Amino acid sequence: TFRALMARKTEAGQSIAIETITEADLPEADVTVDVEYSSFNYKDGLALKGLSRILRALPMVPGIDFAGTVRSSASPDFQPGDKVVLTGWGVGENWSGGFAQRARVKGEWLVKLPEGLSSRQAMAIGTAGLTAMLCVDALERYGIAAGGNVLVTGAAGGVGSVAVRLLSRLGYKVSALTGRRSEEDFLKSIGATDIVDRDTYAAAGKPLQGERWHGAVDTVGGPILANVLASTVYGGAVAACGLAASTDLPTTVFPFILRNVALLGVDSVNCPTPRRAHAWARLAELLEPGDLDLVTQEVGLDDLPKLADDIIAGRVRGRTVVRT
Ligand code: NAP
Repeated sequence: TFRALMARKTEAGQSIAIETITEADLPEADVTVDVEYSSFNYKDGLALKGLSRILRALPMVPGIDFAGTVRSSASPDFQPGDKVVLTGWGVGENWSGGFAQRARVKGEWLVKLPEGLSSRQAMAIGTAGLTAMLCVDALERYGIAAGGNVLVTGAAGGVGSVAVRLLSRLGYKVSALTGRRSEEDFLKSIGATDIVDRDTYAAAGKPLQGERWHGAVDTVGGPILANVLASTVYGGAVAACGLAASTDLPTTVFPFILRNVALLGVDSVNCPTPRRAHAWARLAELLEPGDLDLVTQEVGLDDLPKLADDIIAGRVRGRTVVRT
């Protein structure tokens, strides 16, 4: 038996509680992992609060990320003792996930931990950090060069804070848009050189505004993303991955047709394995252990229901690793 945070169906919707379960409570698949750490993302907040119908296989264990050691494997690609990380693929949504001491998943979903990265460090990165890396990759592939002015929105959150650190490490001049002035020192400590108040972009603005950003990573959507597009320089690009403010995008075609601005969509859930493995290797190379310590807090399974309230309210700083 082992400990898990279980979500079960109730008449009102769903209930969440710590339980002692067995492997029979997990879906059938070829690799069983002893989970050492999980992490807490915005989507986990939605899942635990029963918002956006994230949990689709009740009863199940939520948690979209985990890292640990292979316990048993029928996959030729993994042996007992291998250190692995899992993010995405619908785990923690339509398949039992990381908020438990054990998980059973398809081998094709797992990535071997890059050399030099511990399970805890992998979860300090997690889905949010992987997504930040994929956004940076997208900007680079588009040709947004180091040295340029880039804006990160939702900067004090999980994706945002890792994006700030990565872009700063790569030599971009990073501005951080935040609704929390109290996080100014934190954002500067991870590499932001300039803080932009969320209010600057929170209301609908002109379709074209002064050209400020060579590139941007947007985690929030809504009018903020529209204003970022309107303020992107001729030929610049914005990588969009999130909806923390809104799923709307109240923009016009002007940034695209008059300024050659590109909107680059980024998904981490179904990101193909080669690109995913490349991103993990780059994360391991670019981030120093101290970088992750700067953006990470640690909690236990019992803390997760409260954390769900906090992350949806935008009160969580950086990344949260979960000790299972
Ligand atoms: P998070 O830690 O909660 O960060 C979100 C940040 O957005 C908050 O810290 C806050 O930053 C800002 N924010 C929150 N509410 C806002 C509002 N109403 N208006 C404007 N800004 C607001 O969440 P996360 O785990 O980093 O995820 C960020 C977003 O990316 C989420 O929407 C998530 O679903 C999405 N995401 C997508 C993918 C993908 O594959 N596409 C993967 C991971 C995450 P400040 O306090 O600094 O303003």
